[in-house]
Amino acid sequence: MTTQTKIVTSRAAPAKEVIKDASMKKQKEMMAAHYDRLTNVPETGDKVAATFVPGNLNELIMCFDLLNNLPEVNAIQNGLRRVSGSFVLEAEKLGHSEDVCTYVKSDLGMMAKGNLAPNGKKFPNPDVLLLSYTGCFTFMKWFELIRQKYNCETTMLHVPYQGDGKISQNMRDYVVKQIKENVIPSLERVSGVKFDIDRLRQYMKESVKAEEDLVHVLQSAKNRPSPIDGYFGAVYYIGPIFTAFRGTREATEFYRVLRQEIDQRLREGKGPITPEGEMGEEKYRLVVEGPPNWTSFREFWKMFYDEGAVVVTSTYAKVGGVYDFGFRHDPDHPIESLAEYCLGCYTNLNLPQRIDMICKYIDEYQADGLLINSIKSCNSFSAGQLLILREVEKRTGKPAAFIESDLVDPRYFSAANIKNRLESYFQMIKQKRTAAGAVH
Ligand code: SF4
Repeated sequence: MTTQTKIVTSRAAPAKEVIKDASMKKQKEMMAAHYDRLTNVPETGDKVAATFVPGNLNELIMCFDLLNNLPEVNAIQNGLRRVSGSFVLEAEKLGHSEDVCTYVKSDLGMMAKGNLAPNGKKFPNPDVLLLSYTGCFTFMKWFELIRQKYNCETTMLHVPYQGDGKISQNMRDYVVKQIKENVIPSLERVSGVKFDIDRLRQYMKESVKAEEDLVHVLQSAKNRPSPIDGYFGAVYYIGPIFTAFRGTREATEFYRVLRQEIDQRLREGKGPITPEGEMGEEKYRLVVEGPPNWTSFREFWKMFYDEGAVVVTSTYAKVGGVYDFGFRHDPDHPIESLAEYCLGCYTNLNLPQRIDMICKYIDEYQADGLLINSIKSCNSFSAGQLLILREVEKRTGKPAAFIESDLVDPRYFSAANIKNRLESYFQMIKQKRTAAGAVH
């Protein structure tokens, strides 16, 4: 049986009950425990590697007993807790332009205003900045600024962009060489722990199990009704594997339980669980491109489930690893598979590859169309989105729509505008269906 919990939130009056599956609760606990580990560093003496979600080398980081701290995840937490707005303003006061990615500004503003983690305790300073460069130039600039502040060791793994839409052997060799000759020696130096490849293999065995279960869960949305929401709901599903837990037994267990939970929903013919309980009838099936808005996350999601719209899959749910086309970490070739993982990150794919991926999704998930949430301050996702939209419409014959918001800057979430656009889009889908003589 699926276990659900009602949690009373007290963010703003009136208090509302939020319905959570057991896995969602577990995910929250895991994240909270990770933040406690980070903020307990002054007592434990653990060392910290700051790194980013796309292209993260979590299994390798764990081989050196380092804790990972992910600045985008901190910005997301601050967005969900609605404190990012003041951090963004603080960063702008310090001279960072309005156009800069708001994850960066939220992070820098947070540091300027006490650098507190969600548990209210101070974040530790990083011992090493591990930049795995997978297509977003902002990552590099972001770490340059952090390096100025902390003056700590910095290691960059340069991952060549898939400009031609494929990974060549040269590209693989180039990344492997850097991992062996730069990244590992640097992490050994910082941590004082000698690299042990068998330990890396061991972690990867766990990664593979979690990746299998995650893919099973995400692909369950091919069913009608979909038992999950592959965008808003998927945020909870990707949390552990995209952050500090890929390669741990805890993550393996989380995904095993999650898979059971979703299979149960499937057997019972249920749709996704939303913050207000079971979703009603599934009326629209969408594919979404672009990250969500975090400062109004629940309000945004509600605009979908109130209309019976379920996101069957999204590119955002692949941002920390594209696993649904078959890639798995490989314990027999651990360093090579880290290279392959980084090269295959969504942010490292060229536009034709992204278009192919979305068209495939529309077909395989029997979606009614594509919705693009264009993020004002995220160039990595936003560049070329109009071209993606037109090309996907042309190839699939399905209607596409475009809305705009931002990551963690509440000034750029216009609820009325987005709601209007969504309502017209759902109308358009209905008309298309009627015109095609479909019965729904
Ligand atoms: S991918 Fe977008 S959101 Fe992420 S760091 Fe780059 S610009 Fe910011």
